[in-house]
Amino acid sequence: KKKFDVDEVRNDFPILKRLVNDKPLVYLDNAATTQKPQSVIDALTNYYTYDNANIHRGLYFLSELATEQYENARLKVKEFINAISASEIIFVRGTTEAINLVASSLCRSKYFSEGDEVIVSNMEHHSNIVPWQLIRDRKKINLKVIPINDAGELDLEAFESMISDKTRLVSVVHISNTLGTINPIKKIVEIAHSKNIPVLVDGAQAMSHLKVDVQELDADFYAFSGHKVFGPTGIGVLYGKAEFLEMMPPYQGGGDMIRTVTFEKTTFEDIPKKFEAGTPNIAGGIGLGAAIDYVNQFDRAELSDYEDMLLKYATERLSEIDGLKIIGNAGEKASVISFVIDGIHPYDIGTIIDTDGIAIRTGHHCTQPIMKRFGVPATARASFSFYNTKEEIDKLYEGLLKVKKIFE
Ligand code: PMP
Repeated sequence: KKKFDVDEVRNDFPILKRLVNDKPLVYLDNAATTQKPQSVIDALTNYYTYDNANIHRGLYFLSELATEQYENARLKVKEFINAISASEIIFVRGTTEAINLVASSLCRSKYFSEGDEVIVSNMEHHSNIVPWQLIRDRKKINLKVIPINDAGELDLEAFESMISDKTRLVSVVHISNTLGTINPIKKIVEIAHSKNIPVLVDGAQAMSHLKVDVQELDADFYAFSGHKVFGPTGIGVLYGKAEFLEMMPPYQGGGDMIRTVTFEKTTFEDIPKKFEAGTPNIAGGIGLGAAIDYVNQFDRAELSDYEDMLLKYATERLSEIDGLKIIGNAGEKASVISFVIDGIHPYDIGTIIDTDGIAIRTGHHCTQPIMKRFGVPATARASFSFYNTKEEIDKLYEGLLKVKKIFE
């Protein structure tokens, strides 16, 4: 493995050299999307420049080449998350589509009966709430919500006690995009499985921070987005255990997912094709493969140790600021910090520091129930990746002091 060196790594990401408002970009919004290394950008350009053709169809050279690259990317994903088989890797648009796929497909099957329950948590992204609400009314099922404590951790005792003989699925986030909390997925899966309930994990934030092993976690479904793990937008993954994917009906109908079609009856392809109707994001898949290759150069533990150092440093620096309060102090936390400052709206914080080229997120981060839980309308959020530096955190700190001065 290549030794991690932040200066070298920064050279791999061309955008980090650009100026914003005549200042060097300080990109601290990695929970929203990560930047792309040159190798990912090259993979997209090369594909469109030399290899572009539709896949799974033509018997000519380019189509076979494109198919091979796309299917090779599926193999890379399979290895990356340690799935048993590449057929358990469904390419989708992102985490949102992955969760909608499971919800829609289960809705169309006989999986749910009236009165059944789906358990989610109070720290879910809207994309792990709304899809279940959309099917709730059609299937007359109920949503139950695992509460969180003041530190922003799941209450596992409450979770255990809310499981009933009506519970059919648990769907929880691995790492909260707002609080940074790393949830004990293995424990949650153990509890659910002891009652024969499958678990879907929203891994949108986890892929870039942790080494994820779906067999070790024993998750039944695992969803993530390519763009949050240094790959392109518009491509993501739904991992599902074959036993579930095989019993689930298709999500969308169209080309590529069928075996035979007549007006009377259609038969479907095996997984994963059954769930991949239409021309997919071929370049995106290949780009995601390149992103996985990029990450795989490094020892993941080295990357997460560095991010932990950034988190610790940022937590200390921000805590020095009078009136600043960090929302979410979980014992297990990834490099995401949400905060509020007394008397200053988060939007003002974001707008003012942007003039110094510092990009952070402000708002509810698609987690309005968390805002309600902590009694704030919005937060400012800084989220770090391994290409960020302590100097950038110092700039954030200086920027926040400047904001405070303006409001004094
Ligand atoms: N879940 C979490 C925890 C997220 O952070 C995000 C993206 N902010 C999503 C789901 C949705 O991902 P996407 O928009 O890529 O589908």
